[in-house]
Amino acid sequence: MTDAPHPDAATDPAAVPVEKSREEWRSLLEPAAYGVLFEENTERAHTSPLNQEKRGGTYLCAACHLPLFTSRTKYDSGTGWPSFFQAIPGRLGTKKDFHLFLPRTEYHCIRCGGHQGHVFKDGPRPTGKRYCNNGLALVFVPEGEELPPLRT
Ligand SMILES: [Zn+2]
Repeated sequence: MTDAPHPDAATDPAAVPVEKSREEWRSLLEPAAYGVLFEENTERAHTSPLNQEKRGGTYLCAACHLPLFTSRTKYDSGTGWPSFFQAIPGRLGTKKDFHLFLPRTEYHCIRCGGHQGHVFKDGPRPTGKRYCNNGLALVFVPEGEELPPLRT
């Protein structure tokens, strides 16, 4: 018997949660981004510059900088929010919430718990999913640029 750590812990940054108080996050983030990430606000449709982002690259959690999506799974859903048909495996947690009494699935960054958006079942193939994400909750890093360090 060994006490070897879970193999993912060494290689997958998502395996190490970050726990900060709301006050700490508030001091690190713009007020609008804080409102989306930690108060589950939804940004107005068509307001995010990431709607038009077409370059190759990586989309990180704006709070803790964990990579959540890549440009290869982004598509134009026409909804006015950045949309993806797949997340990087293991990077999101989900919970059901109720909006106008209809159940829908909320998702958030697995590492810091920051709210990202809602996932629906009307996305394109191959997954059929639509991750409808607040642009304020993401940071885009174009291919070839260094990712910022994870916030700890
Ligand atoms: Zn995060």
